[in-house]
Formats: sequence, structure tokens, C-alpha cells
Amino acid sequence: MPRIAALIVGAGLGSRLGAARPKQYLPLGGIAVIRRAIDAFAGEVQLIQSVIGQGQETEYRAAVAGREILPPVTGGDTREESVRKGLEALVPHHPDFVLIHDAARPLVSRALIARVIAALESGARAAVPMIAVSDTLRRQDLEGWETIPRDHLFRAQTPQGFAFDAILGAHRDFAGEIATDDMALAELAGMEIVVVAGEDSNIKITTEDDMLHAARLLGGASETRNGLGFDAHRFGAGDHVWLCGVKIAHDRGLEGHSDADAGLHALTDALLATISAGDIGQHFPPTDEKWRGAPSSLFLEHAAALVRADGGAILHCDVTIICESPKLSPHREAMRARIADILKIDPARVSVKATTTEGMGFTGRREGIAAQALATIERPRT
Ligand code: MG
Repeated sequence: MPRIAALIVGAGLGSRLGAARPKQYLPLGGIAVIRRAIDAFAGEVQLIQSVIGQGQETEYRAAVAGREILPPVTGGDTREESVRKGLEALVPHHPDFVLIHDAARPLVSRALIARVIAALESGARAAVPMIAVSDTLRRQDLEGWETIPRDHLFRAQTPQGFAFDAILGAHRDFAGEIATDDMALAELAGMEIVVVAGEDSNIKITTEDDMLHAARLLGGASETRNGLGFDAHRFGAGDHVWLCGVKIAHDRGLEGHSDADAGLHALTDALLATISAGDIGQHFPPTDEKWRGAPSSLFLEHAAALVRADGGAILHCDVTIICESPKLSPHREAMRARIADILKIDPARVSVKATTTEGMGFTGRREGIAAQALATIERPRT
């Protein structure tokens, strides 16, 4: 029986997803992405070695709790360096084969893993799952657009399986080369690549959409949540107000510790509410000098990062501003665009409305401006 190791590479910081937490630690159906990737290999291989990012030890330990696997290795500056460090850590365990897998591919099937192993057992020194490209591919350059014929085009996935000594040698010999994956290094070392069938469900989680797609593949395990927010600020001296991130000239200003943007404050509270994360005052206490005069976009960005760290995607936002003046309709599109920009979502997903209270109440008496907001998110069900 050959001795087989799985090398789970999750050293990335996951910045493309826009989450405060690296994507491999986001919960997917209640289980961290990296844990799902590791669990897929348990029972199929004898050794499981993870490569994690600097400072991720605590989160990693929590994610793999209860699983008996080798202690993790800390990755390097590049994926190639991270893989090399993982391979070096496996040297004392003398594996015959190693399957190198992205921690961000949590839905790899046992059947796919078995196909890679079978190819290695029948003599391949490198076995890579691939899928034929079915979408039309277009390339854009300075001249314009060009359609790329998709015949003979394939997408490579992981796990990529290798004879251990051969891929270790390739990584040592070609350290520092720019290689997009281990297959490319194996080719530099003259290894022949054997293709095995990949799987459409073996997706790599890079964006929020991927996270939701993965949740759907797991069986519709996502949920929609709404959150409400309300805020008001009193008029004071000044020549402008900030509303929904837009500076609007006015014969009065709004009083507040920050820029007093009631629209963004209400929306921040609405987003926090979708993940039951308290209110804006808890996250940014008005007693903290740090937030004096702060742009409220910071608060909204923070709330969006918390939602994304929880695996959520922002589906829609609706803000209503309540005041007699200033007149807001000329600013509505700028407000929508600004909120969309802060939240990194399409402006079509942002609604901004304005109303008066027909002279009644504190907004009717022109004592201040109020705002209410509704935020809607979709997130994996926990
Ligand atoms: Mg406020």
C-alpha cells in the first residue's frame, strides 16, 4: 500500500472576498471551509498536512478541533513558497504520493480524490483534474475584444496529485519561479501530466457569489435576513449636512460626534442587525475621541466587513431620509452611488428615498433630520 499525504494549502488572506476573515475560515453550512476540505480527505489518505497563514493559528485550531492531523505549517509570501514549506514538513513522514489541494475548495468529492489516487497508483507521476471550458471566452486588449476558440481549453482544479519525491524536487529546483500552480512546476521539471476528470461542483471560493453557490450546492443551505436601523441628528450651526455619504449645502449643519450622517448611521445599524451584532454605538462609542468628526463611511464599511466575515452577501439596502429641508431629490442618485461604492455592491441594489412629516413632529418643526434603513442579506445557514 502506498503511503499518501494530503497537503491542504490555505495560507491566503482572502482579500478578494472583501471579508475581514480569510475565506477558508468562513462558515459554510455551519462548518469552516477549510474543515470541509480536510474532512474530504480523511479516510482516503494516511497523512494530512495544512499550510496556514501567519496569525491564523487560533482560528485554524478551532476549525479542525477533534481531527487528529499533523500540526500546521505557516506559509510563505507566495503560494509556491507555502507549498514548498508544506512539502518539506512532510519529508520526515516519507509519503509516496502527495495530493496538493486548495483549502478554498471545500466541496471536493471522495470520487474525485479517488480518481487522482488511482492515476498515481497506475504509474502517473503527476495527475491533475481538469474540466473542459464551456463558456465563450473573450479577451480584451487595446485593440478591442477578441473571442478565444474554446476547443482544447481546460480549467485545472485541485487536488493535484504527484509522486512525492518528484514534486518536492521540482519545488526545490525551481524555487522562486513564477508558477501559477504545482502542475506548472511539475512541467518545468519535465514531469508528464495525466489528466483526470474534474467536477463542476469542486468550486474554488473566491467571491461572495462563490460562497452562496457553495451553500446552494450543499442543499440550499442559505438564508435571507433583514435588519432595521433608525437614527436622528439635531440641526446646529453650519453650512452643510452629510447625508448618505454626500455633502449637501444647507443653511444649518447637523450636530453629532462624527459627521452626523443620519442616513449612513441608520444603514450601519440595519446591517449590524442582520448578523445580530449590536448597534453602531457599541462598535464606535461616542465617548471615543478617535471618532470625533469621523466620516461615517468608516462605520458602514466596518458593518459590511462584519457581514462578509460571517459569510454574508449584501442583497439590498433601502434608506428613507425624513426632513422638511434641504431638498434631497437632486442628490438621490449621488447618494445611491456613494452607498454602493462604500458597500462594494451594484447601485441597483441601493434605494434612497426622502419624505417629510407634513410639518408634524421634530422633523416637521425643522429641529433635525431622521433616517430609517432596511438591509437585506443572504448568508449560509448555520
Ligand atoms: Mg447617529
